[in-house]
Amino acid sequence: MSKSVTELCKILNLSKDEIDGVEDSAFPLKVPADFLQQIQPGNGNDPLLKQVLPLKDELKQGTGFSQDPVGDLLKNPTPSLIHKYQGRVLLIASPKCDIHCRYCFRRHFPYQEHSNQRHWQKAIETIAADSSIHEVILSGGDPMSLAENALLALIEQIEKIPHITTLRIHSRTPIVAPSKAPKTRLLTWAKQSRLNKVLVVHCNHKNELSDKTAELLTQYRNSGFHLLNQSVLLKGVNDSAATLQELSHALFEQGVLPYYLHQLDKVQGASHFEVSDSGALQIMQQLRAQLPGYLVPKLVREVAGEANKTPIIDL
Ligand SMILES: *Cc1c(COP(=O)(O)O)cnc(C)c1O
Ligand code: SF4
Repeated sequence: MSKSVTELCKILNLSKDEIDGVEDSAFPLKVPADFLQQIQPGNGNDPLLKQVLPLKDELKQGTGFSQDPVGDLLKNPTPSLIHKYQGRVLLIASPKCDIHCRYCFRRHFPYQEHSNQRHWQKAIETIAADSSIHEVILSGGDPMSLAENALLALIEQIEKIPHITTLRIHSRTPIVAPSKAPKTRLLTWAKQSRLNKVLVVHCNHKNELSDKTAELLTQYRNSGFHLLNQSVLLKGVNDSAATLQELSHALFEQGVLPYYLHQLDKVQGASHFEVSDSGALQIMQQLRAQLPGYLVPKLVREVAGEANKTPIIDL
């Protein structure tokens, strides 16, 4: 639900000035009820609150922070389709999200031009004409913010393309708004589909997980989805080995394996979340010492023009 910062502060028993909150009309505060429930009242430093609260800091212009940090606008011959990597395409299935994450790398993306459902037909035709593509990734915005019928209609068209073997959905909805995530029709479809199914959720902190997410994720898993997680490394939210270790364990308890830990995309308005590469590498070293290998995410960054996510590694 959309709220003013003043309303949010009232619900959470906080003072707007103390937490440096501002109203932002361009990318307004948006926080779903499920996520709001997971925020601790009276704590201005709550790691979930920090992800949704517009701050005065966002007005800062960080060096190297821009409106299209990952070069998506250049790789976009068919509207709503982004084909940057070999063998897989990304389809922007919905312009909307249930939540507005302040660090979002797409907060300036011109969704309205790219994710309209009238572009789907052209996108499907483009995929059908290119047999080098075997995986379609539904992204956004958030594809699970679509009405379930629209989502299923899209998925069924993708399934009809013979050279597609894998459907991947990238979504933050199962974590931040489990009560609103698509269920009945998607689960029924998944149980009988010939496609490999991957759901990459997006969770940054263990406090985002609850009994509701556990129940939903179990249902997806039982209907054939492989469950992975990507996080963004965020200063003040999850930039410590202890926090990320807890996150990996909590995700695993809910049947999810860590996939990527992203270094922040340098998007204007998000510079206060930045963690240096050397800081990130130090955290990774501690994580590796504390976790089994399968619970350690890969630290990456998206670099415009590269053929894959770029690993950040110490040499
Ligand atoms: C991240 C991304 C993918 C998926 O990359 P994987 O490394 O397979 O997870 C595909 N296409 C685009 C445009 C992307 O940004
Ligand atoms: S859910 Fe994902 S795409 Fe949507 S605002 Fe958050 S980070 Fe951005």
